[in-house]
Amino acid sequence: MDYDILILGGGIIGCAVAYELSKYNINIALIEKDYDVADDISFINTAIIYDGSETSDVIMAGLENIGMKLIERACKKFSVPYNKTGALRMASNNNNKGKLDTMYERAKERGIEGVYIIEDNDKLIYDIEPNLNIKVDKALYSENIAVISPYDLAISYAEVAADNGVNFKLEEIVMDIKNISGGFKVTTNKNKFTCKVVVNTIPDEIYIDNNKEDLEKNNDYKNMNYILFENKLEKHINTILIDEIDNGIFVINNPTISEGNLIGIKSNHLLTLDEGIDISKNIFPEGKKEFVSNIFTEVYNKDVMVIDDSKLNSGYIKVTGTHYGKITIAPAIAMMIKDTLKNSLNITRKKDYVDKRREVYRFKEMSNEERNEIISLDKKYGNIVCVCNNISEGEVVDCIRRPLGARTVEGVKRRTGVGLGNCNGSHCNIKIIKILAREMNKNILDIVEDSKDSNILSSRIKEFKEI
Ligand SMILES: Cc1cc2nc3c(=O)[nH]c(=O)nc-3n(C[C@H](O)[C@H](O)[C@H](O)COP(=O)(O)OP(=O)(O)OC[C@H]3O[C@@H](n4cnc5c(N)ncnc54)[C@H](O)[C@@H]3O)c2cc1C
Repeated sequence: MDYDILILGGGIIGCAVAYELSKYNINIALIEKDYDVADDISFINTAIIYDGSETSDVIMAGLENIGMKLIERACKKFSVPYNKTGALRMASNNNNKGKLDTMYERAKERGIEGVYIIEDNDKLIYDIEPNLNIKVDKALYSENIAVISPYDLAISYAEVAADNGVNFKLEEIVMDIKNISGGFKVTTNKNKFTCKVVVNTIPDEIYIDNNKEDLEKNNDYKNMNYILFENKLEKHINTILIDEIDNGIFVINNPTISEGNLIGIKSNHLLTLDEGIDISKNIFPEGKKEFVSNIFTEVYNKDVMVIDDSKLNSGYIKVTGTHYGKITIAPAIAMMIKDTLKNSLNITRKKDYVDKRREVYRFKEMSNEERNEIISLDKKYGNIVCVCNNISEGEVVDCIRRPLGARTVEGVKRRTGVGLGNCNGSHCNIKIIKILAREMNKNILDIVEDSKDSNILSSRIKEFKEI
């Protein structure tokens, strides 16, 4: 067999599974169709780490609570920012006040600490969020809830897994999975691999032995309309605010790390920008059209997560479900898959496992003394590529040279934050393209934004020496 285990899909689930399994003496590969891991839905989401108090599903609540604790630990270990903002869930619609009591009772029954009901006590609410600019009679406060960068977490899991021997096969599309004696044959657009076990985390169906899997589809999809407001307010709201305005319409105000506000509006239909801003005023009255820096939409579902190991005897595990808290749940799912495989394959732990991510240096977070020290070691840290976010060439080069390094402009942006400032990349895009071309020994015309055929520069216009 080529591999003991093949993990299909490099989203947050696939990366978390690769990380957990890389601790064991087994030969593993992960197959991902994109140029980078976590390039799909793991990138566009609300980035909230839930604590298990909001859901009526006991199993999902348990997984969220375990996941939350694992993520907090992992973020500390890998230096991924974990912003424990807390969340105020409000009930501007009187009918919803009872729901807050139900959630509170559930949190108590589940032993989740740090969850409180606040009623007729303006002072307490405004102590929690002094910059709240709306009247709230009743709220459920959870001090556990946090905001993270899911992409940063996924890439950390993947880098550590790669450093410990997992073979990442990017730009390979899984086309078919077939049972063979003692395992599987997985066919991609480039290769055929054999393995003993398949862990399939690809959300879509891929057919085994040409039989369509009989997965029950939950069609309860809603639209998540996102509006990103720039950091233009004098007083930043630091807490996650959630309100169910009307049946089925939820508004979430998520403080971003750059002190802007990401407003998510869950609704049955796509909203226009004006409709979105109008609804967002229920919790974020300061939101004005001229402060909007981006809008995007995603499909949202509360379909529960299932680890389908009904075919474990033949070596097949499939993760199904499109739950809204899948990032929170991801490390708990990875642990369960690891335990299942540990028992069935009788695998042993590596003695030389290194549970550490290679250091990442953030120039803008360093003191002048530290900056001078790093510039004396590598003068590329003294060359600022992104003036909006104070990001140096040294950081860009490091993110390309690391295990599973960036190979696209988007990959560099996500890893370093370059190009995500107010200029939206107008000053630094060309610099990133040139550095990528130099580091990968490619022509700058071959550098892509994020995927095949997304080349940025189409042709030469003049024979400048540099190009
Ligand atoms: C609007 C929205 C908001 C959300 N907000 C939150 C939140 O606040 N908190 C939270 O905890 N969760 C949240 N989630 C959930 C979370 O973002 C996603 O569900 C999660 O990132 C999915 O991870 P995944 O690994 O299952 O899937 P994906 O990220 O989709 O990964 C699957 C991978 O498989 C690859 N792939 C697909 N087909 C193939 C193929 N044939 N061959 C090879 N590779 C393939 C894809 O390229 C992709 O990288 C939200 C989801 C949505 C939609």
